[in-house]
Amino acid sequence: MHVENIYKKANALLEGHFLLSSGNHSKYYLQSAKVLEDPKVAEELAVALAEMIKASNLEIDTICAPALGGILAGYELARALGKRFIFAERVGGEMTIRRGFEVKKGEKILVCEDIITTGGSALEAAKVAQSLGGVIVGYAGLANRGFCQRVGSDIKAKPTCKLPFDVPFFALADFEFEIYEPHHCPLCKDGSTAQKPGSRGN
Ligand code: ZN
Repeated sequence: MHVENIYKKANALLEGHFLLSSGNHSKYYLQSAKVLEDPKVAEELAVALAEMIKASNLEIDTICAPALGGILAGYELARALGKRFIFAERVGGEMTIRRGFEVKKGEKILVCEDIITTGGSALEAAKVAQSLGGVIVGYAGLANRGFCQRVGSDIKAKPTCKLPFDVPFFALADFEFEIYEPHHCPLCKDGSTAQKPGSRGN
């Protein structure tokens, strides 16, 4: 499966000067919502990811996704795996599990995002699920930005990767592109201003 082509075809691989949620800048941005706006494509991606996870014989009870980005990918993955789906959401900056979702003691949970960058939000969702008694058995994303090491890739985790190394991380592809600290951003030096993705209609 050529995930990069799917993103390009959906105009979901954006080029410009972006301010990422980490505060860093990048020339590229992956807008997964654009890929997932076609439910057929979302299904294909989730089925491919599910096949990868099934091949590992991992035991999973439930998929948990951090809102908002992870919900569509996580829901489709849960459907493809035939598992329950819940989501975690931020309330006043704090990740929580609400809406009557229950986590049983010992429940095996796989945390799913759309794109894993450093895995910060995924880790926060995992910690909430854990605090309720869940056991985190793995992480998944449609794509890996190259900071964490996914199952089946030679790309090594960078020091900024927040996902734990003792559980597997599954993704369909690696999308490696450079990110810059604002002070060292060549795009800023060229005189343009970093835009928050979504703020100009993207
Ligand atoms: Zn910049």
